[in-house]
Amino acid sequence: MKLTADKIREKTCPACGHHVAVQFMKENLQPLATLAWPRSEQAANTLPGLPQDFIRCIRCGHIYNHDFKYEDVPYSDNPNLMFNKGKIWSDFIVDVQNKIQTYLPENPIVIEIGHGDGSFLASLHRLCGSGTFIGYDPHGAQHDTNTEVQGLYFKNELFKPVQLFSEMKPDLIVSRHVLEHLVNPLGFLQSVAFASNHFKTFPLTYFEVPCIDRVLESGRTVDFYYEHSSQFTSKSFNEMLHQSTLSINEIGYGYKKEVIYSFCTIKDSGFPAQYIDESLTFYENAENSLVEIKHQLQNIFESGKKIAIWGGTGKSAAFMCRYQVDKDRFPVVVDSDKFKVGTYVPGTGQEIKFCDWLVENPVDIIIIPPQWRAKDIITEIESNNILYGQVLIEHNGVLVDFKTEQHPY
Ligand SMILES: [Zn+2]
Repeated sequence: MKLTADKIREKTCPACGHHVAVQFMKENLQPLATLAWPRSEQAANTLPGLPQDFIRCIRCGHIYNHDFKYEDVPYSDNPNLMFNKGKIWSDFIVDVQNKIQTYLPENPIVIEIGHGDGSFLASLHRLCGSGTFIGYDPHGAQHDTNTEVQGLYFKNELFKPVQLFSEMKPDLIVSRHVLEHLVNPLGFLQSVAFASNHFKTFPLTYFEVPCIDRVLESGRTVDFYYEHSSQFTSKSFNEMLHQSTLSINEIGYGYKKEVIYSFCTIKDSGFPAQYIDESLTFYENAENSLVEIKHQLQNIFESGKKIAIWGGTGKSAAFMCRYQVDKDRFPVVVDSDKFKVGTYVPGTGQEIKFCDWLVENPVDIIIIPPQWRAKDIITEIESNNILYGQVLIEHNGVLVDFKTEQHPY
């Protein structure tokens, strides 16, 4: 089939983060396949249809429904219970659990993300005999204090990596048949790796998802339905782990390659902590400057001095919106650009005048929001013989006098 422009999509791959994909399989609107649970024929026939436009990442081969929305899947109404009591499946689970056990220390701390009916975590706990085993699943089995087993806990809450790693040092993180339901599985794994790095706790991880290598070999179509928005190939699963700074110890398959799993250790990502520190500090300073500059503006207003803002769009409009420079207290806005004259400041509504208005109507204070242009603007003000008392710019969270105070402009 010939490649045409309409078959290429600029979408972000949930497995590797690449942004170009190609058309793969499109369905007419179809209802949820596993989670709708209609209780009557009429309910079954009138279920809402959901869009399915599966596309394939050209870099890692991952297949995904880019129209998928997590909120369309009613996990809170109907639990997503995997029903598989077959012998091959049970043997696979036993194998996996035996393998997990060989990796674990005595009295391990084991976390399962999305514990579902809780049976996997409960049997792993039985196999290990001791330790702390905690499942996180907002819609999974509930913890029952009546039948409580020492060391086995089920929490009906979302797994939050930063919170968990700040509270404990898990030896193992397990997640089975969860990643394929997420809009952004790569982002989720990167968040786990980030928290692990930040708190210098590097547990083993076990992730398991359906694998579609055989689907592709045999041209199967029924595997593509709404709830499974992300369909992993061996390559895309590996690529996701790689992009999440997970170091692969072992990749394996179950159920004749219908399932793929990984044992990985989270690596030291080497990402600089500086970005986190800088961002949190910037955030805090920006919050403080909001209070401080609003306070300064109110004092200036109450002083009765005449004020003009130089600039009515871009950075100047951002300044006026952020600090609530309203039309009633600060009606005068001028601009050097004639094309902006007669338009109004977005968000605060002052009509923008041409700057020569200040020749006839001088003010005491001119505020110039774009700091890096202030010097040029002052030259313009002075060459136009505009009189003024003071020019203020914003610097380090306060308004400072351009001529008498310290700043880098
Ligand atoms: Zn990809």
